[in-house]
Amino acid sequence: MNHRVTQVAVLGSTGSIGTSTLEVIAGSAGRLAAIALSAHSSLDQLARQAIDARPRWLVATDADAAARHPWPELPRGVELLVGTDGLVSAVTRPEVDVVVTAIVGSAGLRGTWAALEAKKTVALANKETLVMAGSLVTDLARRNGARILPVDSEHSAIFQALKAGRPEELRRMVLTASGGPFRKHTLEQLKNVTVADALAHPTWAMGRKITVDSATMMNKALEIIEARWLFDVDVEQIAVVIHPQSVVHSLVEFIDGSVVAQLSPPDMKLPIQYALTWPERQPGVAAKLDWGRGMQWEFEPPDFERFPALPLGIEAARAGGTAGAVLNAANEAAVAGFLNGELKYIEIVPACRDVLAHHNFDPSPSLDQLIALDGWARREVTHWILN
Ligand code: NAD
Ligand code: MG
Repeated sequence: MNHRVTQVAVLGSTGSIGTSTLEVIAGSAGRLAAIALSAHSSLDQLARQAIDARPRWLVATDADAAARHPWPELPRGVELLVGTDGLVSAVTRPEVDVVVTAIVGSAGLRGTWAALEAKKTVALANKETLVMAGSLVTDLARRNGARILPVDSEHSAIFQALKAGRPEELRRMVLTASGGPFRKHTLEQLKNVTVADALAHPTWAMGRKITVDSATMMNKALEIIEARWLFDVDVEQIAVVIHPQSVVHSLVEFIDGSVVAQLSPPDMKLPIQYALTWPERQPGVAAKLDWGRGMQWEFEPPDFERFPALPLGIEAARAGGTAGAVLNAANEAAVAGFLNGELKYIEIVPACRDVLAHHNFDPSPSLDQLIALDGWARREVTHWILN
């Protein structure tokens, strides 16, 4: 059977999700092709990716870095675009079928927004976009008839498990969390953890920001808000359970008490591929479970005292409005401060809580308001660190 090739734009192609996406494309037996790639700073790596993947458009989003960069000769047919304008121009071309949003942080909003405005299917890894502006982003998608398919493993699992029942039969969704490197740490031990400790994730290899978010469990807090918008459910219908093996990627509970889950080894190539081949499944390069080996899976409730990011995230999810954007930006700035040695691990969540508590809440903000608040919350964290 002949299949039309799906043309994929990969935003943030040099990151953890970006490189896994290129592996999925390379292993797709020609069904998927990379038509555009973008990166912010690893421009040598971006140029090397252009040689292997042969995209039409290569985007260097940091225009200054692009101007300074000693570019090698790019393969014939590869056009270099720069800056945010270059990014928007690449994702909106008619030849693009799917846009993988694998930029980290609220910087991912611009490309996601442009893709939805151009009615593209978005394979969404950049959860921060929905945390910041979930109401406006999902509304834009609805108005334009553009689809947002989850790449985040938990949300991909829920998306798959939801097929087992009707929307009105859903009772709740249960997000699994590995618990990160500090799952068994006492409050006393958490006071002295280092950057290296926080970056040593037990089950997943990911970018630095999300790895720190997994250690604080802010990642799960952000994922609650992401799920709330992706699946249009009440916050009260979203629960979290700790599952250290990261094999059960999430569960859906129906009104009769039946629970349906999606399982696979911790390998992002599977949820990435599912978002790119949906509604079909294809053989692929992701790791498979080995049923010849014994396996043990544990589940335990999360501890809100040792992981205060979780109750804070639930509070922000319930509040809606501007709360997600402020929490997200404060967290990005606090994590950057932690990684730079300016902030201790145990100060990340208190900094976020303080900034969230004294912001000017608005229940139905505009996009411009959210972008302004994103900048405000980052500056507030800088003051918090100085004081
Ligand atoms: P990463 O740090 O490894 O890669 C980030 C990519 O974004 C790089 O290509 C970088 O060049 C680009 N980038 C960084 N700052 C930018 C900016 N200001 N403007 C434009 N581009 C910029 O991050 P990652 O771990 O691949 O995560 C990417 C996104 O996917 C995040 O939103 C994360 O929450 C989400 N996610 C990641 C994983 C994972 O396994 N890594 C799992 C689920 C969701
Ligand atoms: Mg996840």
